[in-house]
Amino acid sequence: MDTVVTNGTIITATETYRADIGIENGKITALARGLEGAETIDAEGNYVFPGGIDIHTHFELPFMGTVSADDFETGSIAAACGGTTTFVDFAIQGEGESLHQALQTWMERASGKAAIDYGFHVAIGDMTDEVMNKEMAELVEQGITSFKLFMAYKGTFMVDDETLFKSLIKANELGALIMVHAENGDVLNYLINKHIAEGKLEPIWHARSHPPEAEAEAVGRAIILARLAGTPIYVVHLSAADALEKVKEARDQGQPVLAETCPQYLLFSTQHYELPGFEGAKYVMSPPLRDKSNQEPLWQGLASDDLQVVGTDHCPFNFVGQKDMGKDDFSKIPNGMPGVETRVPLMYHFGVNEGWFSVNRFVELVSTNPARLFGLAPQKGTISIGADADLVIFDSEKEVRLSVENLHMNVDHSPYDHITVKGYPVLTMQRGRIIVKDGEFVGDAGAGQFLRRSSPASI
Ligand SMILES: [Zn+2]
Repeated sequence: MDTVVTNGTIITATETYRADIGIENGKITALARGLEGAETIDAEGNYVFPGGIDIHTHFELPFMGTVSADDFETGSIAAACGGTTTFVDFAIQGEGESLHQALQTWMERASGKAAIDYGFHVAIGDMTDEVMNKEMAELVEQGITSFKLFMAYKGTFMVDDETLFKSLIKANELGALIMVHAENGDVLNYLINKHIAEGKLEPIWHARSHPPEAEAEAVGRAIILARLAGTPIYVVHLSAADALEKVKEARDQGQPVLAETCPQYLLFSTQHYELPGFEGAKYVMSPPLRDKSNQEPLWQGLASDDLQVVGTDHCPFNFVGQKDMGKDDFSKIPNGMPGVETRVPLMYHFGVNEGWFSVNRFVELVSTNPARLFGLAPQKGTISIGADADLVIFDSEKEVRLSVENLHMNVDHSPYDHITVKGYPVLTMQRGRIIVKDGEFVGDAGAGQFLRRSSPASI
């Protein structure tokens, strides 16, 4: 063996057991007691998880007159420090652009910079005949097996129902997965303009311009269109209990509807928009934070499998120089917040320590399900013979305050500053190489490999 991880407690989505992990050429080749190798890593007293998989990041995203603060290097290094070894970002088709051009642009941004393995979803903005009849199939061939459609952001990313429906029909034929940002963009557009005209310009009006009903309506509509097309659908960053009800109803009827939520919707609420000064701007994102009463249903959804994935929608903007572009108008505050580094520890601390679900379910939500649903399994998302040796050694007793000083994301504030989590990664390994040790990145920018994803597992 090249490397052996000894004495750890291995956690997968289905099992908990003690064994050594033997690694050769970056792959797991043995799971047994008493293994020996050229290098030994002692995991005594710690858990060993499969590396986290964040299928919802936006590194170096040009958006709302600025660019998200983490590029593929800083963002992927931060991800690794937080126990994530794979991410899937979004290449977004611009006006007059082909899907191939969009992918090319994002591939260039990631190339030579990504420190962990990665893939791309492609967001369709313009459903030309070429896209429908040719490009989607070509992209699936190239390992892009999921496409995103925005039902919100009127005037930029938003598509109409015809585009969404066509993409669902085509995805069904190709075995690809359609993801939706589900908010009713027309309703939001009306409310945003109305509130601005009335001089209601503080961050709280962002939330009031994005009511949960507008999310529930769009989730319901997307689900019905997917049913009509006879194909699965995946709802990104689901934030509201009413929207979750739509998912639940469809799943109870046996429809393949999948949904993700993010830590911010589980932990924060609209109260954050009322923080003194302009602090609320840090939490401006779409969908917005919701009333506190939405949190418990979301946690229950994760526990009961109505929600299958925790992503981050990582899209950080500095408080000074970016968020403050909207100082006098909430509609100019760049939407998004950091999260790629804190997802795994937050879900362990609030999910497992607080008793919402088991440590196995935690692994399923942050790694195994994302791998299965996005065509990365069995190479990623579990600890089994033949899988990539993407491992996280996790000390369930280690306490870390999620302050800017303790984090690596390239942003001037931490929305989690007041939180100290118990349980933290102490070592991250990708394909058998140690890339983070004791909180410090020791890998190489550019060492991440582009992953050609297969069709999502049968859902
Ligand atoms: Zn997003």
